[in-house]
Amino acid sequence: MALIVAKFGGTSVADIPAIENVADKVVREAENGNKMAVVVSAMAGVTNQLIQYCDQVTTIHDAREYDSIVSTGEQVTSGLLALALQKRGLKARSWQGWQIPLRTDLAHAKARIEAIDIAGLKQNLLDGEIAVVAGFQGINDQGRITTLGRGGSDTTAVALAAALGAERCDIYTDVDGVYTTDPRIAPKARKLPKVSYEEMLEMASLGAKVLQTRSVEMAMKERVPLQVLSSFNPELGSELPGTLLVDESEVMEKHVVNGITYSRDDAKITLRNVPDIPGIAAKVFGPLTASHINVDMIVQNISPDNRSTDMTFTVPRVDLAKALDALNKMREEVDEKVEIIFSPDIVKVSVVGIGMKSHAGVAQTMFQTLADKGINIQLISTSEIKISVLIHKDYLELAIRALHTAYGLDKEEDAIS
Ligand code: ASP
Ligand code: MG
Repeated sequence: MALIVAKFGGTSVADIPAIENVADKVVREAENGNKMAVVVSAMAGVTNQLIQYCDQVTTIHDAREYDSIVSTGEQVTSGLLALALQKRGLKARSWQGWQIPLRTDLAHAKARIEAIDIAGLKQNLLDGEIAVVAGFQGINDQGRITTLGRGGSDTTAVALAAALGAERCDIYTDVDGVYTTDPRIAPKARKLPKVSYEEMLEMASLGAKVLQTRSVEMAMKERVPLQVLSSFNPELGSELPGTLLVDESEVMEKHVVNGITYSRDDAKITLRNVPDIPGIAAKVFGPLTASHINVDMIVQNISPDNRSTDMTFTVPRVDLAKALDALNKMREEVDEKVEIIFSPDIVKVSVVGIGMKSHAGVAQTMFQTLADKGINIQLISTSEIKISVLIHKDYLELAIRALHTAYGLDKEEDAIS
């Protein structure tokens, strides 16, 4: 008998009719002979609302109280789904993080899972009970509730699947799989039947918001068979294939590029007249690290006069003000001549594909395609399986559509016509 972990995101449990729909799906899975552990998010919008409540009291939170507040959304949906399942004649029980217990480190609001004591939960599953687990939350060594960072229910589901040795982890969401790009921008986007863990990891961290990055990392490490599928499709649950995350060797369709992602969440900073001396990068970026600001896409120019250089990099847009503050202080210490220029009006567009490892010319296709559309590239960064460029935000849609066509990703029927 297969054991399946199914996770339902916020839009899938947004209200009572949605929860009833989820219960019907779970019933069908159970009737197919599967043992089910179900992980739920909070109702759509609820976590945001809870965070707002915290902000209204004080913007500088005691992280322990923040976690005890924002974890409550999942407590509600897990109880409601257990009730809806019981109403359908099934045995079901809700589990909060502390009841399992799902143990985490001490890092409130972005805690990492350290261990899951599954003995009790597993016994109940074997006794024929459906476990409805509140996602996103755990308990730390101090006995306090912790949360796993935004989107953390995905990670709860994958961790639980790994701990239980589940046959599969199904992530139900409001899209029916992972697409070659955002279908709202490029109507010719196609659903990928399979995508490698590695590609999904890049896509998730580059802005494709289907899965929390950490959950993909964990699925890859623990080799959890993970499927992304829609909870709004009225058809059967897991028989209707979504996108399966698999090992690289199992990806049949070998496009050089499999996905085009974007992020509107960054801002660009350029420092001019930076003294070109040993240790300067450490001096510049040290204060940003100290302020917990994640720096990405760093480029340093060669210095034309052997004395000064320029540096350009990106930071999360939400951290721009904090970054400028830290850099201004650095400037006072390092050299008053350093000039700080910034722009929030940029987007990062990335192409991702494991085929890049073995194909030349992938970057050139990107550059030529953007050139043909008259789009200026402000910054470039690459890894083994991705190329990212920074462009002006007004060109986002145009760039994505053009690249989607250039890499041969348009839907077959569209490509022919
Ligand atoms: N409810 C949490 C959030 O909105 C966790 C999740 O949905 O995965 O971030
Ligand atoms: Mg999510």
